[in-house]
Amino acid sequence: MASTQGCGPWDVGSIPTYRLKMSLKLYNTLTRKKETFKSIKPGFVGMYCCGPTVYNYAHIGNLRTYIFEDILKRVLIYNGFKVKHVMNITDVGHLTSDADVGEDKIELRARREKKTAWEIAKFYTRKFFEDIERLNIIKPDITPKATEHIKDMISLIKILEKKGYTYIIENDGVYFDTSKFKDYGKLARLKIEGLKAGARVGFVKGKRNKTDFALWKFSPKGVKRQMEWESPWGIGFPGWHIECSAMAMKYLGEHFDIHCGGVDHIPIHHTNEIAQSEAATGKKWVNYWLHGEFLILEKGKMAKSTGMFITLQKLIDDGFDPLDYRYFCLNAHYRTQLRFSYKALEDAKRGFEHLKNKIIEVLSIKNKGKKSTIAYEKRFMEAINDDLNMPKALAIVWDMLKDNEVRNDLKYKAILKFDRVLGLKLDKIKIEIPKKIKELLEKREEARKKKDFELADKIREEIKKEGYVIEDTKEGPILKKAI
Ligand code: AMP
Ligand code: ZN
Repeated sequence: MASTQGCGPWDVGSIPTYRLKMSLKLYNTLTRKKETFKSIKPGFVGMYCCGPTVYNYAHIGNLRTYIFEDILKRVLIYNGFKVKHVMNITDVGHLTSDADVGEDKIELRARREKKTAWEIAKFYTRKFFEDIERLNIIKPDITPKATEHIKDMISLIKILEKKGYTYIIENDGVYFDTSKFKDYGKLARLKIEGLKAGARVGFVKGKRNKTDFALWKFSPKGVKRQMEWESPWGIGFPGWHIECSAMAMKYLGEHFDIHCGGVDHIPIHHTNEIAQSEAATGKKWVNYWLHGEFLILEKGKMAKSTGMFITLQKLIDDGFDPLDYRYFCLNAHYRTQLRFSYKALEDAKRGFEHLKNKIIEVLSIKNKGKKSTIAYEKRFMEAINDDLNMPKALAIVWDMLKDNEVRNDLKYKAILKFDRVLGLKLDKIKIEIPKKIKELLEKREEARKKKDFELADKIREEIKKEGYVIEDTKEGPILKKAI
């Protein structure tokens, strides 16, 4: 069975390795339960994640969601699955309001920046890919652009039309009639009757139900949009929700395993994706829906639309490494809100430095430990397989590193293995000692041999000024970066 596949081929030299088999549990928003994951095809997972709307830089909240999705994918791979990961690029059709009114975010930005909508989309798409690379997020296998899939969207709307799910509002667009879809709102457990008029979808004249949504919007009369296409219903552009359904189906089929996004997508975007996809195919669309909680600022919500946001570049300019931010995110469970502050990020950075130092120590000295790492490997896998409990997984990494009874060379091998999930580039840690420090170290060793401890201490102070500390151990002195 797929869920009990062994782990990947751990090629770790001559050291004995362990193939652990364990069930993977994931929290499914559809059922509000942690469920044992079973893939549709044995050993293979199809996974779709809602990607960026490319009218601005991604903010670190968006990036938290992409980090969570990356961890999920890595955990699936760690469990032996082959993953096909699709993430769309929304380069048209996402309006400034979820109510099917307002402007297209990209066209609006283009006007403000005096650029074309195509230039805006291209620029921010490139910036998005740069950001995910800097965070060591594995690039999705397929990153389809909405503007390159208009035909697929029109085909899907035609199917819905043929099945009687659509109606047209003159001078506005083609709408999905949510009253015709029996299970509408099942993901968000919406109480349709209880929705206050306007609270959910705003006022669009001619909507039959409060929850109906646009599949195709007509270009406004007398306005020449930069991004618009012919369609059987009139010139216009696709609705944001139909984009995801069409692209997900094109690359993953009419029924696939996992769909992800941030929690904000549950009540509207994903609810509508489900309605139109299942209405079109007449069957269940996605088995597992996973949602990442928000990153929040001390002062409240972080949002691209309000401009109140922090980018990854800003963190870099403030002296942080992108992986400090990744480490910061891993210290919170993806289903809990995470409050961002520079103080909290500083703490995470310090913790990450400690971790790297500890690994350097493990690399640089042979200890007398005899125990293997198997118990820790088991606990690590239990943690990640328990709905991606990364804070616990990190605590286990620490426990193992501190355990003097475990052989250091084995610890290092296990760290490399764990890093396939953590993605913290722990394999890149090298002991790079600057020439000056090396010379000082040698001088200090000479002084110690001659029992000139006064001089040795003086040199230790000099080394400290250069940002390194020396710890004298039974196995000899070890050098650490001062934190
Ligand atoms: P967008 O580019 O606005 O479509 O959002 C891209 C992804 O980021 C979506 O999955 C959103 O649900 C998610 N997202 C938006 N704001 C936040 C936030 N503050 N924290 C975490 N994820 C977010
Ligand atoms: Zn989507």
